[in-house]
Amino acid sequence: MTRLLYVEDNDDNAFMLQMRFALLEHFHLHIAVNGRDGIEAARTMAPDPILMDIDLTDLDGLEVTRRLKADADTADIPIIAVTAHAMTGDREKALATGCDEFDTKPVNFDRLLGKIEACLRGRRPNGT
Ligand code: MN
Repeated sequence: MTRLLYVEDNDDNAFMLQMRFALLEHFHLHIAVNGRDGIEAARTMAPDPILMDIDLTDLDGLEVTRRLKADADTADIPIIAVTAHAMTGDREKALATGCDEFDTKPVNFDRLLGKIEACLRGRRPNGT
């Protein structure tokens, strides 16, 4: 079983991914609705990867990423930024902050799944 933590404040986005992963038997998706809950969930559930929205209501996703990567207990968990920010430089900014991968909204599920699987294999796929 692959345990995913999705940090996402938008109900529609959370529901959509919940539905898609529910069809794949080997995934369990846990939703955290803000940055602080995301940090708490990362510590308690030790997810395989984290899907990280950047625009959250409390801490932004990059700050959540910084805190998780600065904590030895959570530093090794791969983080995939998933954001509507797709301007030039946003991917580089996310990666420089400590995110392991980056994907854009609206989510292309198969593409996101490919990035999750690549993170689980411990390497980065080519391109975005
Ligand atoms: Mn958001």
